Amino acid sequence: AKTPFVRTKPHLNIGTMGHVDHGKTTLTAAITKVLSERSGGTTSYVALDRIDRAPEEARRGITIDLAHVEYETGTRHYAHVDMPGHADYVKNMVTGAAQLDGAILVVSALDGVMPQTAEHVLLARQVGVDHIVVALNKADAGDEELTELVELEVRELLTAHGYGGDAAPVVRVSGLRALKGDPRWTAAVEALLDAVDTYVPLPVRYTDAPFLLPVENVLTITGRGTVVTGAVERGTVSVGDRVQVLGADAETVVTGLETFGRPMDSAEAGDNVALLLRGLPRDAVRRGHVVVAPGSVQPARRFTARVHLLSTREGGRRTPVSSGYRPQFYLRTADVVGDVQLAGEGPAHPGETVEMTVELGREVPLEPGLGFAVREGGRTVGAGTVTALA
Ligand code: GDP
Ligand code: MG
Repeated sequence: AKTPFVRTKPHLNIGTMGHVDHGKTTLTAAITKVLSERSGGTTSYVALDRIDRAPEEARRGITIDLAHVEYETGTRHYAHVDMPGHADYVKNMVTGAAQLDGAILVVSALDGVMPQTAEHVLLARQVGVDHIVVALNKADAGDEELTELVELEVRELLTAHGYGGDAAPVVRVSGLRALKGDPRWTAAVEALLDAVDTYVPLPVRYTDAPFLLPVENVLTITGRGTVVTGAVERGTVSVGDRVQVLGADAETVVTGLETFGRPMDSAEAGDNVALLLRGLPRDAVRRGHVVVAPGSVQPARRFTARVHLLSTREGGRRTPVSSGYRPQFYLRTADVVGDVQLAGEGPAHPGETVEMTVELGREVPLEPGLGFAVREGGRTVGAGTVTALA
């Protein structure tokens, strides 16, 4: 039998951000390696190729854009997401799928601040990530003078986005050398983890609110039934609880609960979990559905929103949009078409922030403050927030 999950430390969701090839995945692997070698630790080492490929899910043909690893420091339990590509950051951060309590901004000491470095900081600000710790990576290969300049440049970037760049911890690391066990650099990864432990505060969790979990993935466990996975957005859930699956129009009972492959009796806001649902056919539920405490949520289709249309340089559209525009809306994990009615006169141009009314193609749980992404043809063209139900 698998060892049950025992909650001994507060749980936080954290992730690596930064430009492609600056070493996010290497650093993620190095963190698990360093922590797995601490005496008395409980962290398992997750090798590079397991973070980058997630082979099990790849075989099932599910599109994976989030790789989760877990680790534990002396004071905390972390779920850490390492997203493979830039488009995944935009989608997962804006829709809240990544739900980061804090972030490690990885910047190569050889290359400095690059376009995606700046975009991820901008995105983090927009989605309410309040604390960023900087890993100046590849410090093994950089020269001192250049590294100093890169540090200044990163602090300026953070300050420009309201992060207080002077106070942010900036730690020089080498994910690659730490992964190889070089003591100088394993110590640097330890220093980075200490900075995360002390600089990122414990988040406020809405554990008293009614349970809500947006479904990220659906799996079948032979002989046991249908399992949905995702991060608990609010409330708590226990084995034996009745739940409602919005989208599937079904009510059922939670018959099993796991986190990172270990059974647990009860999960709470912030936890990444798998829920085994009694008697629910595999094809009745899919990504984008929402599991809630029965009767606690009234889904809706119409809302008003404030939307930032990404500039062309940020990967957005080349042409303006007008009323009648019908893009895809990514709300939590749901992907729904919606009709746009602009509040202002005339078309809205890439780079502008505009007010609009949206009528979705189907009902989803909506509430003021909920973030979403606007996508078309598989790319993100805007990021918005629900201002009211209409
Ligand atoms: P990601 O795209 O940000 O996830 O970057 P990866 O972790 O895939 O690393 C990109 C490249 O940088 C790979 O060739 C790594 O071996 C190399 N790399 C990563 N970390 C370091 C480091 O600390 N020092 C050096 N010299 N190279 C590194
Ligand atoms: Mg990577």
